[in-house]
Amino acid sequence: MRPLVLLLALVAVPAQAVELTGRMEQGGLVIGQTRPGTEVRLDGRDVPLDDQGHFVLGFSRDAAATAHLQVGGQSQTLAVAKRDWQIQRIDGLPPAKVTPDPAQLARITEENRQVAEARKKVTTPATFLDGLVTPAEGVISGVFGSQRVLNGEARAPHSGTDVAAPVGAPVHAVAAGTVTLAHPDMYFTGQTVMIDHGLGVQSVYAHLSRTDVKLGQTVGQGQVIGAVGASGRATGPHLHWGLSWQDVRLDPQTVSAALPKPTQ
Ligand SMILES: [Zn+2]
Repeated sequence: MRPLVLLLALVAVPAQAVELTGRMEQGGLVIGQTRPGTEVRLDGRDVPLDDQGHFVLGFSRDAAATAHLQVGGQSQTLAVAKRDWQIQRIDGLPPAKVTPDPAQLARITEENRQVAEARKKVTTPATFLDGLVTPAEGVISGVFGSQRVLNGEARAPHSGTDVAAPVGAPVHAVAAGTVTLAHPDMYFTGQTVMIDHGLGVQSVYAHLSRTDVKLGQTVGQGQVIGAVGASGRATGPHLHWGLSWQDVRLDPQTVSAALPKPTQ
């Protein structure tokens, strides 16, 4: 009788058994829910689900105007809103931090590999669906997506949010999760911590002066994980806070604003 029961269940599913909430825009994150176990793909990429059928779609800074979503047998075209990006000029950086030499490039390549490995770690359940807390108190000194001009040379766009704060100010985990990277000294980002929050979403905290967590450690939302610093490529003390979905960088500010306010 089992095949018949399964067939009836499939017939009973409505055509659009998916709900999407959030900001469908460049740098944005959308939360979806469908029947647990459904195969979900975004532009051909596998999308992980939790056991309640929650999933996340992330859109990069330069995402195309449309994306293709498949949920089970259904497919739909999503319209992704375009955003305007600022230009940020930073002068006075040590020349080697703007144009690395070959030995430094080898080190950077290895560090990028470690970050990519860390981003592959996906755990469930999702811990960020009820919202993110502020990682550090301070003034926003750099926004996501801005085109960077360093010592007069165009470089990669800014991949997170900078919060200016004094050296030693506490840095908090924006949501509960598992530490996927705790690096003592990366070329660009200095002391760096990454935390997995489930469904492919991770946060990164860079330029720290102190790290209080270890690889694989579980942390609670708001827990102090380290302190603000100026390690790596930084002109002054600040927290660089990043958010990603798989290998897609997201805008921490707009994503936070689109999620519920956490009750703490
Ligand atoms: Zn930054």
